[in-house]
Amino acid sequence: MPTVSDKARYRRITLVLLISPIVFDLGLNLLEGSNRRQLDDGPTIYSEAPGKVAVITGESLAYNIPLLQVQRLLEHQGLVYDVVKDRDFTVAKSKEYFSAIVVGGSQPTSLSGTAIEELTNGGAGIIWIEDMPSHLSPLFGIRTVPETESHQTINRIDYGEFTTRIFNEAIYPIEPLEAHVNGWFMDNADRRVSPAETSYRSQNTSGIVYYFAYDACSWWGVDPEYPWARAYRLQMALNNILSGHLTVSLAPYPRNLKTAFITRIEDVDPLHNSYEWIMRAYSYLEYYTSRNALLSVSLTPTYIDPSVGLDIGLEAVESDVLRKWLSHVLLSGGTVIEHGFTHQYNGKKTGVAPEFYNEEKREWLSLNEQKQRISAGANQIRSNLGFSVKGFEAPHYLANKDTYAALSQLGFRYITHNSDTPFLDRIGLAEGLVNIPETLGYIPLDSTKELEETMKANIDMLYNMSCVILFFNHLYEDESLKIGEHLLEYSLTKPMVWYTNTDNLAEFWHERLNAYDKMDVKLGRDIEVTLGPTRKAGLTIVLPEEKSIRRVHVNGALWPTFRDNYVILPVLRETANSILISLSEDEPNTNMPQGLTLVILSTALSILLFKKTTSTHHVNRTQG
Ligand SMILES: [Zn+2]
Repeated sequence: MPTVSDKARYRRITLVLLISPIVFDLGLNLLEGSNRRQLDDGPTIYSEAPGKVAVITGESLAYNIPLLQVQRLLEHQGLVYDVVKDRDFTVAKSKEYFSAIVVGGSQPTSLSGTAIEELTNGGAGIIWIEDMPSHLSPLFGIRTVPETESHQTINRIDYGEFTTRIFNEAIYPIEPLEAHVNGWFMDNADRRVSPAETSYRSQNTSGIVYYFAYDACSWWGVDPEYPWARAYRLQMALNNILSGHLTVSLAPYPRNLKTAFITRIEDVDPLHNSYEWIMRAYSYLEYYTSRNALLSVSLTPTYIDPSVGLDIGLEAVESDVLRKWLSHVLLSGGTVIEHGFTHQYNGKKTGVAPEFYNEEKREWLSLNEQKQRISAGANQIRSNLGFSVKGFEAPHYLANKDTYAALSQLGFRYITHNSDTPFLDRIGLAEGLVNIPETLGYIPLDSTKELEETMKANIDMLYNMSCVILFFNHLYEDESLKIGEHLLEYSLTKPMVWYTNTDNLAEFWHERLNAYDKMDVKLGRDIEVTLGPTRKAGLTIVLPEEKSIRRVHVNGALWPTFRDNYVILPVLRETANSILISLSEDEPNTNMPQGLTLVILSTALSILLFKKTTSTHHVNRTQG
């Protein structure tokens, strides 16, 4: 890994070479010569550890949410990782990884301190969450200290740009020795109690190490103001420990897009036929369509109110205007999601109750009952709109494993629920399903400007995390229409956003997961990435920003669609597909020691022979 000081030295050498054009040429030739020689010696140009992250856990698996959240984070980022047991993470094993995340809550008491030390000394970054054995703390520039009474008064963490609440949870007090404090535990009186997050680099050549003195993997989505603050901090730490390394990731969206923006129109049923609502719905659709943004409509196809004997389906004459609007949504590229069959049970009316779970009896409908209701709703939508729904949103987000089994058996492809993660998620669902999380909440009645501002701040956070930006809107009043438009407008100020619907994103995520599940990275003469099959073009392999791609082969054939640091892939038909990426060789690379020696020699020569040359017009030659 090129260190900061090496890079600076290289830069100085390059500058000296520029002074003397002839020797500059000589230097480059020598450098190329040495390059070739090294190539012939074998695949050693990128001498880093393979691009893999180790997730280290201990024996305590009673509470596995932290591990699952780390896995979701890494899968969303498209990084290759292994879950490794503490006792298996030996010094030899550590050489396979260029960074590690330690799930401290699982009590990794058998983890070798030497392996951790070797890892950071070799330049790898580490994130340690919660419980840390005190003998390891100096490696993190901190010291563990006992809990005192003042720790009982902690109610939030202050990160400067935002705060996040502390719930009924354990914290792990420390004192910073040399570590930098990134966030503080605060008490009711606004006083700093102790550090909540630190980062530290012991020497220029060591990796960056982070310590989270609380469970950064839990309570996601709970803080009402910044629901994803903890996931955000974890991801920022991950980005930082990976910077400077040759990371190879499979982007979460097509064509290197940074995020996806999705609006769900919520709780639409056959009685959404009032003049006011329909006018608002057309106006909203027009606003989105004229900006190339799409709508996803959560539709309950049968409205029931047993107390007044109402039972109106999508086929009813009263629903004509709604069906027309829904057809316009579909024609403009939007989609329809099934939001239950009736969105109620027993004597309740549509919308106010869940459908699969009886809250009084605390009973779930059976798999068969759920399957029948879901399929009745899907058939009703198909026969009235000519559209086959692929997505499902359980009323009140109340679904159990039978709901997922029913959906999977009926050929559904995704759910769109709010869950405890902002990341792409398939863990805990049935085969063939993914969740497109609702990450940005919704616009309630009587919303204020304040709510709009909070939602915009969360758009910023989700955008920086490359997480899907998804909110829902009932369009019950003009104010909610306006706020929805403002959120789209705000998002449009950001580059590289995919304005899509839930169907498109789910299909893309399925294809990406197929490719990702076989992903492997080898760093040798070239970067060799193995991916599983995908039926969609547009999957993107991303390298660090400072890298410059020179040539790409996909399954042995030259592939032209790449730019700077990323490759946009075609359909991949093989079970295992090989993508070979060659980098441009004119960038600083300290993994070429012989080349560097020759450059230094030629520099000395240039100074001796061409002392008086001060030409600068060869600057462009650095492009190689
Ligand atoms: Zn609902």
